[in-house]
Amino acid sequence: MKKIHLLIFILPVITLFTSSFICAQSLPEKPAQIEVLFSPKDNCAQEIVSAIDNAKSYVYVAMYYFTSRPLAQAVIRAKDRDVEVRICLAGGKDPAYDKYSKSRYLIKNDVDVKVIEDSGIMHNKFCIIDDFITITGSYNWTVSADLENDENVLIINSEKIARIYKKQFEKFWNGTYINSCKYKDKDRLEKVPVATGVSLPVSADKGVSKGKYVASKNSNKFHKPNCKWAQRIKPENEVWFDSRKDATDKGYIACKVCRP
Ligand SMILES: [Zn+2]
Repeated sequence: MKKIHLLIFILPVITLFTSSFICAQSLPEKPAQIEVLFSPKDNCAQEIVSAIDNAKSYVYVAMYYFTSRPLAQAVIRAKDRDVEVRICLAGGKDPAYDKYSKSRYLIKNDVDVKVIEDSGIMHNKFCIIDDFITITGSYNWTVSADLENDENVLIINSEKIARIYKKQFEKFWNGTYINSCKYKDKDRLEKVPVATGVSLPVSADKGVSKGKYVASKNSNKFHKPNCKWAQRIKPENEVWFDSRKDATDKGYIACKVCRP
């Protein structure tokens, strides 16, 4: 009789466990909730700031231009309450070194910033928060994107989508992203990993600008950083100058294309 009683007790318990296990396995992914915003009318910066202000575990940002003070302050606030903050910005001759960039301000406030030297990659513009929220769209984190330009922002609430973006972000951050757009012709066989994101120089006082003009070790011409010839110089061959005089004194001559 004892045995039977025991079985009567155990059976429902087993059934309960099994059925809840099956349920957990087959639960459909919740549909993503998406908020669609357009600047300048929808106050995008404020929406993004409040998403960051609610972050509990991490905020990862991949951004081309980052000049917005309210957004920079929001990520600093997040960092200050022990939320992990990581920011990838476009490097090379590009926005991270721009005088309006918040890169220096962020670094000064101990935010982890990495510069991705292959500038095209940071045309990605997205932010992931806590394995749940993905913010993306044409919107750069700038004042003009918020107040002047016509841009769009999606704020997506979905674990599934956040996971996909997070995976991509980690490749940028760890320098394991394969830039498959490097070769656009028929010989596009070789795929090369982009350079590992480099941390910006920490000295905030000195700023992050490498100089005003650039030349290659292998040439005697110097350029404006945005010159197409300057952009072909490999980072390891770059020689930077603070002024024209600095360059000419060292024996370099001005490029005829960009006329520095
Ligand atoms: Zn040039």
